[in-house]
Amino acid sequence: MDLKQHVAIVDGWPKPGIKFKDITPLMNDGEAYRYATDKIVEYAREREIDLIVGPEARGFIIGCPVAYSLGVGFAPVRKEGKLPRETVKVEYGLEYGTDILTIHKDAIKPGQRVLITDDLLATGGTIEATIKLVEELGGVVAGIAFLIELTYLDGKTKLDGYDVLTLMQY
Ligand code: AMP
Repeated sequence: MDLKQHVAIVDGWPKPGIKFKDITPLMNDGEAYRYATDKIVEYAREREIDLIVGPEARGFIIGCPVAYSLGVGFAPVRKEGKLPRETVKVEYGLEYGTDILTIHKDAIKPGQRVLITDDLLATGGTIEATIKLVEELGGVVAGIAFLIELTYLDGKTKLDGYDVLTLMQY
């Protein structure tokens, strides 16, 4: 299946110069959504994944159906102030300034093999921060799966040494 047919490219959104990759048409098409999910499930099975971890909000959209299909759990990574119980947090750099991501302290058991999911790899900053959270809690990052990689931003160099799957490249 040609998944790219189901990605809408929005020029100049949210600001000039950005070509936004909108994955909502893919989610909107039952066959395409299942096809992409199944590809990630297959990748996860080969790596004996115990838990899926994804950053808000599109990491949930990719990760939750994979978790359901494997029969494993899902742990959300969220912006500071969104998770109600004790968290660990990490600060990471954005284009302008910094942001903070958090995860519940009891979300991962030491030694669990974790698959991180998100919709898109751009600079890699979000996933680098997510890796730090997983490893701080003793999880083993056994795979990282994205629908889309923006190869010209070279985010993969930040993920050097990790096992990465991307279903589409631009
Ligand atoms: P980064 O931390 O730079 O890898 O950015 C990752 C997050 O920003 C991804 O989870 C995307 O949801 C979002 N993002 C960055 N660039 C784009 C883009 N061109 N189109 C759609 N989403 C993007």
